[in-house]
Amino acid sequence: MKQIYLDYAATTPTRKEVLEEMLPFFREKFGNPSSIHQLGQETRALVEESREKVAKALGANPEEIVFTSGGTESDNMALKGVALSRRDEGNHIITTLIEHHAVLEAAIFLEKEGFEVTYLPVDKYGIVHPDEVKKALRKETILVSVMHANNEVGTIEPIEEIAQVVKEHSDAYLHTDAVQSVGYLDIDVEKISIDLLSLSSHKFYGPKGVGAIYIRKGVRIFPFMHGGAQENNRRAGTHNVPGIVGLGKAFEFIIQEKAELRERVKSLRDFFIKKVKEEFPDAELAGHPEKRLPNNANFIFPGVEGESLVLAMDLEGVCISSGSACSSGATKPSHVLLALGYSPDKARCCARFTLGKDTTLDEIEYAMEALKKVLSKLRQISPLT
Ligand code: PLP
Repeated sequence: MKQIYLDYAATTPTRKEVLEEMLPFFREKFGNPSSIHQLGQETRALVEESREKVAKALGANPEEIVFTSGGTESDNMALKGVALSRRDEGNHIITTLIEHHAVLEAAIFLEKEGFEVTYLPVDKYGIVHPDEVKKALRKETILVSVMHANNEVGTIEPIEEIAQVVKEHSDAYLHTDAVQSVGYLDIDVEKISIDLLSLSSHKFYGPKGVGAIYIRKGVRIFPFMHGGAQENNRRAGTHNVPGIVGLGKAFEFIIQEKAELRERVKSLRDFFIKKVKEEFPDAELAGHPEKRLPNNANFIFPGVEGESLVLAMDLEGVCISSGSACSSGATKPSHVLLALGYSPDKARCCARFTLGKDTTLDEIEYAMEALKKVLSKLRQISPLT
């Protein structure tokens, strides 16, 4: 049976060229970048090269990039690191109802530690309105965290306008979770006035377990890992050299290919959306019709439970997801779809298809046939219809 992967928002395969670049760092080039001998200094140079690549891609300076274990750590570092370092200046944080759990759970933790958190609403497309940000700002607001693009519905947030509002009306830092967007959208932290930005290598054909956070020069972060002085005392622990080298290489490809990739993936995704709408007139596309990541199609199929659809599609050889990978397995409806105004019943009927650089028209056509077969079966037996 064919195996078709349409879950690229959950993770992507590591590119062959990236893996090849990483392999020597497991064996012959195994030095610790903190060692002062040659073997260590050799790997140190490559860690720094990777840092330069990431910085260049974001319009940042290399010393503003800190390597982490991925998006979750970067998000936690942004929220907890800023909150704890600015505790004397204020105790208010603003975020949104549709953030990834890495941000939301960190915010909930901070509430327990005595911080006040405002969770901004979104409109029916998942857009966070800059006016809402403005209304929520207080003189004691120390951090605003709004994601660049949503992982479930793909909605792209007006981060530039939000940054303007934050800068004009407060001293708060602005953090954006760009984990899903860096592979497709251009981001210049200088132009947009972003203070902190999270990214994760496995979302753009790099290895898992490595990511980075951009921290603007002058922004204070309380380090929540204690140990060695790595990463300029901002993140203790021996560097994940193969991972960091892989992240840099994967980023290099993304920069070269992003524009072409965006167009190619979008045209396949649009074809898929058109076919789904023709075939299932009651299917609703969740998220914004245009302001969405080019690889994302998230549908509500009324009467069909998302989890059942995922499992039935899997039996047909097609990998998709219901909601985010991190929340699937739980039967709770997606917090993102609830925030968009869907009822819990409808929110349970969602299926996310996310395309990637290797997706072909044949695969989309195969997935479409599988969807027709599976939906007609599930609709006959569904307790929700
Ligand atoms: N933020 C967003 C928007 C994500 O989509 C994810 C992963 O799905 C994360 C954060 C967490 O990243 P990681 O898997 O690298 O911990």
